[in-house]
Amino acid sequence: MEPNTDPFHRKITYLRISITDRCNLRCLYCISADGVRPLTHKDILTYEEILDTTRAAVELGITKVRITGGEPLIRRDILHFIRLLCTIPGLKDVSITTNGTLLKDMAGPIFDAGIRRINISLDTLNPLKFQRITRRDCFDKVREGISAAKETGFSPIKLNVVLIKGLNDNEIPQFAELSIRSPYVIRFIEFMPIGKIACWDRQKVITSSEIKSRLESLGPLQQVTSSGNDGPAKQYRFAHAKGEIGIISPISNHFCADCNRLRLTADGKLRPCLFSDHEIDIKTSLRSGCTQEDIKRLIQQGIAEKPKRHHAGHGNNTGLRPMSKIGG
Ligand code: SAM
Repeated sequence: MEPNTDPFHRKITYLRISITDRCNLRCLYCISADGVRPLTHKDILTYEEILDTTRAAVELGITKVRITGGEPLIRRDILHFIRLLCTIPGLKDVSITTNGTLLKDMAGPIFDAGIRRINISLDTLNPLKFQRITRRDCFDKVREGISAAKETGFSPIKLNVVLIKGLNDNEIPQFAELSIRSPYVIRFIEFMPIGKIACWDRQKVITSSEIKSRLESLGPLQQVTSSGNDGPAKQYRFAHAKGEIGIISPISNHFCADCNRLRLTADGKLRPCLFSDHEIDIKTSLRSGCTQEDIKRLIQQGIAEKPKRHHAGHGNNTGLRPMSKIGG
């Protein structure tokens, strides 16, 4: 069996790396109004430690990495980190997820550092609602950031929209319209029960089938063949659209059988499953002089301990960490 194959015959090729738990937004489903108590500088992995862990993961068969957070673009010296990350031999794909607030100035530099694919979170097209959801007045900055990403040449540019019933689901038609006139991939994501902050309630979830039928009421939707970079998203497009629509259904129609990912938190824990608090401590080993082979063994432990599936969505919120402390 290959070193990156788990007990359920899934090949683990994707590592999500959270480089900070801090964020400059306070999205009401992700982080508390006063921010969660941030980790101290010494609690978070140094870039060198993250790079060592990634090199070990790549030796085991990881080929794809996404940088996330918290808000990754607020961590100092991120360009230096991205440059080194992008030159790891064997790593084929490095992407980033950002809230877009700092992208106007950072789009060019992160592109030059080696990133080509970007996901930007945008839950509403309404500036006032944006302020209500994020508890910050940054809508224009994010729109400027998205435009800067487009001008810089990122492709694809995916816009992440977490749909919450009664909050932003009435904007499905506007987002659909945006996918028709602009080359963005609008990714509708089901609201997930992560941490207490999410105040998750099954009644607030717009399921993927409901999203699809609401889109279909706007016009015929064609299924798009996967580019290989769509992950668990089902991709669609309206006729003559410049962009596409992705629907991601971690709750109503989980895709655990195809899960190919591990997560590394900013404080150096490897999480085999987004919805489980089971973690493997990498940081302590990194800081007690372990070898590359030791890190590889810990990563293999993470692969071996991936659960067959999650059971989120059946009770209340799962997990202790909010999404901002895991890395979405
Ligand atoms: N700061 C970056 C951003 O805003 O994209 C990266 C980190 S953020 C935690 C990553 C993604 O997780 C965002 O798209 C956010 O909307 C999503 N997210 C956070 N909490 C969520 C929840 N309870 N359900 C679904 N998505 C969630």
